[in-house]
Amino acid sequence: MQQYFIQGIIDPKQPVMLNEEQLHHMLRVLKMKPHDQICLVDEAENVWLAELINDEKWYASIIEQMPSVNSAISVHLAPALIKGERWDYLLQKCSELGVNEISGLLANRCVVKWKQAEKEKKLKRWNKITQEACEQCRRSDLVHVHEPMTLEQLCETEADLKLVAYERSDSESEHILSLLHEYPHIKSVLAVIGPEGGFESWEANQLMQAGFHCVSLGKRILRAETAAISIVNVLSMYYEYEIRGVTNEKYRGNPQ
Ligand code: SAH
Repeated sequence: MQQYFIQGIIDPKQPVMLNEEQLHHMLRVLKMKPHDQICLVDEAENVWLAELINDEKWYASIIEQMPSVNSAISVHLAPALIKGERWDYLLQKCSELGVNEISGLLANRCVVKWKQAEKEKKLKRWNKITQEACEQCRRSDLVHVHEPMTLEQLCETEADLKLVAYERSDSESEHILSLLHEYPHIKSVLAVIGPEGGFESWEANQLMQAGFHCVSLGKRILRAETAAISIVNVLSMYYEYEIRGVTNEKYRGNPQ
């Protein structure tokens, strides 16, 4: 069922007005008819099942509230900026997999040059991609894509656990799953991914000094967007499993 984000807080007893873009999508693209059902999410992240009504004008009438599917922890991803379509793909897939915030990283070997003049236009487009992905996978929260940041800004960003995916020190980098087992109860993670050409070693050192743990995502070298998608998937799967109470005692090799 298609989901749409509504501005404000929905009062289930009141008709909900839909904007022009939403109505166009429902009536022209999906060819919906009166009484077809949709899912609406308000700014308090409440999810509502509603039906489409045409009574002089189109609106939605609430049927009932639905459970939320949001992730168990807050994941802030900071991937080095990569080119065009692959960046868009990263935004879409990481949103489906449960990322909460994305800030591009201006790493030394980034091929993409960030132009401040294009900021508004780019952020608007990127946030539209993530919003559509959230609607498609029925999340009731939105992903916030922020302005790209420098390594210094990244070092000052707070989170319960800070990770940098670092392939070159595979022997030094701890396997991500083994590290996560040491942090079962955290609420937020900041995860950094390097550019196509990888990190300069001084960049990785600076991150480590700022409290980032180097993690390996396995033995194979992944493309930057694959590494981003992979780390978000590992984080959301792992903490969904932990927090659902399926405690991994067996998985940790603990006999009890
Ligand atoms: N330096 C590499 C390519 C970098 S891959 C080369 O040989 O060309 C781009 C980014 O993806 C890396 O900077 C790292 O953050 C991440 N990455 C890729 N594979 C990884 C792995 N196996 N473990 C951890 N991070 C990985």
